[in-house]
Amino acid sequence: MKGGARSFNYGTAILSAVLKKHGHETDLCYVYPSYETKQVRRKISGFAPRVIAFYSTTAQFRYLKRMLEDVPLDEGIFTICGGPHVTLEPESSLCEIPRLNAICLGEGEEPLLELVEALERDEDVTKIQNIYVKKDGEIHRNSPRSFIQNLDDLPFPDRELFEYQKIIDSDFGTALFMFTRGCPFNCSYCANHALSKVQSGRYVRFRSVESCIREMKEVLSEYTARAVYVNDDLFTLRKDFVLEFCGRYKKEIGLPFDINTRVGFIDEEICACLKEAGCRRVNVGIESGSPYIRNKILKREMSNEQIVSAFRIVREAGLKTKSFNMIGLPGETPGLFRETIALNAKILPDSVILNVFDPYPGTELGEVCKRDNLVDAERAEKDIIPKTDTVLNLPDFSRREIRRFYKTFACDVYKKQSLMKAIFYRVYYSEFGELLLRILSPFKDILRRITMGI
Ligand code: SF4
Repeated sequence: MKGGARSFNYGTAILSAVLKKHGHETDLCYVYPSYETKQVRRKISGFAPRVIAFYSTTAQFRYLKRMLEDVPLDEGIFTICGGPHVTLEPESSLCEIPRLNAICLGEGEEPLLELVEALERDEDVTKIQNIYVKKDGEIHRNSPRSFIQNLDDLPFPDRELFEYQKIIDSDFGTALFMFTRGCPFNCSYCANHALSKVQSGRYVRFRSVESCIREMKEVLSEYTARAVYVNDDLFTLRKDFVLEFCGRYKKEIGLPFDINTRVGFIDEEICACLKEAGCRRVNVGIESGSPYIRNKILKREMSNEQIVSAFRIVREAGLKTKSFNMIGLPGETPGLFRETIALNAKILPDSVILNVFDPYPGTELGEVCKRDNLVDAERAEKDIIPKTDTVLNLPDFSRREIRRFYKTFACDVYKKQSLMKAIFYRVYYSEFGELLLRILSPFKDILRRITMGI
């Protein structure tokens, strides 16, 4: 990531908590900030694991491939990979990496525990639901079980594993939480619509407010944080949840907090309630300013007017705003991308994020990219930083233009409003941005206030 922020993987932390709860020992090798195997080898020889489990997104999968080639492992170590990439591409993922013994589809808490216990007892591991296992040249494919219905049954994530205080400190003193699983929408580029079909049962699930508050209290008593980020995709999906949560949050937690929402799920009542509870910023996905790209290609189902109105409601409640945007989408042209700049310049969120589109295999749009031969396979295998560069060859939008817009986007959005903000963003996204961040790190709180308003 730009700026080198450490990240916390909620799913991995819950898996570790589940295993520990059942008496197993876990350890984490967090490969950061760049690919290297020395620390992995050291960790393996020190901890002597029976199982090595990997989490991988599509962009990370190439490193997993390399890792399992570069690090020699004893025969007795069982390797398994979970996460969205293998869940949506199970066959090829398992075949692509000879040293990978198994993959886990969908939610891993129950399957991983069953696997570990079976290995411990030297039992057969080829019949565990959700797990595909390679054994004696054969793949054993097991159907997935239902989604976990009561999220309150899960233990709180094992933050210890991640040296969590360092993660908080690297992100402006912010502690991260997630209270839901799933999303009911079918945006074509997002993994949610595909993941919802892998297992059966209700996909969109909420924890109880009681459980959320209890976790926050526990974390904030163990670690020092100045703010909270509730990183659910759509925190305001259920109004009754928001109202109950906000009521308790103000009394029992009280730190400034940020949330993510979607146009159509934010109104005056919710905003007033968020503000009253101490919410600081609301992040909203615009993704594209072009109605054609947003609705036909991305299947976002919202108009420009609805987007403008949602940001106005949030701002009028006294909350800061951030917009999420994408570039390099199938069907996009420089002209259509300028509509994204124009819409952001009209709304003027307090901060903007632009990600270069990364196609996920198994999603609707990822499959379109494959079908239309848009993916540059060679580039996809190289060390490009995901979301800052494109792996696609688009007929009407060159890689050079995408990269140029990526660098100038924020500057273009703000140049009429604040020259200082525009210049900062221009430098931040230049080749000197990383260096500048490092030099200015003692002043990062001040810079953040200037550029993001919080
Ligand atoms: S609303 Fe967000 S989380 Fe939900 S499907 Fe669309 S992109 Fe994914």
